[in-house]
Amino acid sequence: MTLAAETSTPLDSFDSLDPSSGAVLGTYPVQSGAQVEQAVARAREAALWWQAQGWDGRRRHLRAWKGVLARRLHELADLVHQENGKPHADAVLEIVLAVDHIEWAARHAPKVLGPRRVPSGLMAANMAATVEYQPFGVIGVIGPWNYPVFTPMGSLAYALAAGNAVVFKPSEYTPGVGRWLEHAWQVAVPERPDVLQVVTGLGPTGAALTRAGVDKIAFTGSAATGRKVMAACAEDLVPVLMECGGKDAMIVDDDADVGAAADAALWGGMSNAGQTCIGIERVYATDRVYDAFVAELTARAKEVRPGSDAQASYGPITMPGQVDVISRHIADALDAGGRATTGGTIDGAYVSPTVLVDVPESSAAVREETFGPTITVARVPDAQEALQRTNATSYGLAGSVFSGSRARGMQIARQMRSGMTSVNSVIAFASVPGLPFGGVGDSGFGRIHGADGLKEFTRAKAIARQRYALPTPLLSFARSPGLTDQLAKVIKLVHGRG
Ligand code: NDP
Repeated sequence: MTLAAETSTPLDSFDSLDPSSGAVLGTYPVQSGAQVEQAVARAREAALWWQAQGWDGRRRHLRAWKGVLARRLHELADLVHQENGKPHADAVLEIVLAVDHIEWAARHAPKVLGPRRVPSGLMAANMAATVEYQPFGVIGVIGPWNYPVFTPMGSLAYALAAGNAVVFKPSEYTPGVGRWLEHAWQVAVPERPDVLQVVTGLGPTGAALTRAGVDKIAFTGSAATGRKVMAACAEDLVPVLMECGGKDAMIVDDDADVGAAADAALWGGMSNAGQTCIGIERVYATDRVYDAFVAELTARAKEVRPGSDAQASYGPITMPGQVDVISRHIADALDAGGRATTGGTIDGAYVSPTVLVDVPESSAAVREETFGPTITVARVPDAQEALQRTNATSYGLAGSVFSGSRARGMQIARQMRSGMTSVNSVIAFASVPGLPFGGVGDSGFGRIHGADGLKEFTRAKAIARQRYALPTPLLSFARSPGLTDQLAKVIKLVHGRG
């Protein structure tokens, strides 16, 4: 056996494929570790220019970028449709939301991150205390393919608005979308195109980015890959933001509007072929509404269908290997005594909308992320039991509650172990730019979107400036001997009564 046969030869390019036909859409370079390091070095230079632009300059440039996306929206939507497979209209929706996030981040960055006075307190009454949020420098963004514009934008726009340069590694399934976003930046900000750069490749290119000297990694993808990314970042104490998967549930309470809940579960579970990290994969409906809910959901699910034509409700499964996972989850649920009230069939990359009932809680379809157009529905005696089952998972990304009572809906939402919950709606939090987005447990940590999302890409900088000198300094070897005794008496007076 030759050496070449023993060791796999690294690829120097890879193809982006149309998931509906397998046709080659484009060929992209597999960028090496050295090339990724060069991109990060360029970004570090560019970050100085970017920071020198100030809040107003950055807002102007980000708005120019946003303008390119808005004007060429259908062109980008076509590309998203081709690479990911989702219907053009869904791609438009995704881009519209992303544009809104760019505007929010650009507009709110000065107020959220700019210098702010804080009370200096009794011990330091002679000091002026200020906190401000400074950019890290260069952020490495590693993104998935399921929402190839919206999802990375939660890191790109917020990291840029905070004053960082970015090197973005898109998924190998959607490199064209990544390149398009980079090109749009070059059109919008021709004087400094390297503030936002894209590197293409497979997993190892993403791994190279974690070791290329970036100041933080923002990762979106599976928990399994997230663990690898974190381990690599640990070597150099590079901080990480983890946006991982989920097994989100919807709770349908006694007094819920069953029709609205079924409609939301269907959209939340089946749109984008179920390949939504914050999609609904499980429903817990109380005894009182269960039968009506299953009937409504089944009837509505029969009205939607996968395909690549203009009328299709959702597209093919983007990642070929995922079809096996979905197939295993359906088979496992049926073998364990479950029943499909509709669907359960797979034709190539197209999975029919599938509603599964009577599935044991221990089966993969209930416990593991399916990432396909399937929903399990379970009957529970009450919302409390629904909450217990909802929370009995290692994930905790998002979820939904349907309730006729505002107070009860809010109470259940608060008790759901997740980073985000919609009440009488689904996925709604993602369209509110001011709300933080992120999970708990295996769904990750850290937040994109909103003020928290801006702060995520900064380090807090504290400055205490002496306004006047104290007659007897406290933090000095010249401190008078009785000063600490006096201080102890004051503290006893102020704090000792409680
Ligand atoms: P993966 O975890 O397989 O990949 C995510 C990204 O990481 C891709 O760009 C991938 O590159 C890259 N990558 C792979 N290996 C490494 C490595 N060793 N080091 C660094 N980067 C690497 O996820 P999927 O692409 O399959 O995305 C689906 C997952 O993402 C689901 O679990 C979903 O729930 C989650 N997700 C979470 C979201 C959230 O906000 N919480 C939003 C959207 C999705 P390549 O593709 O080239 O292999």
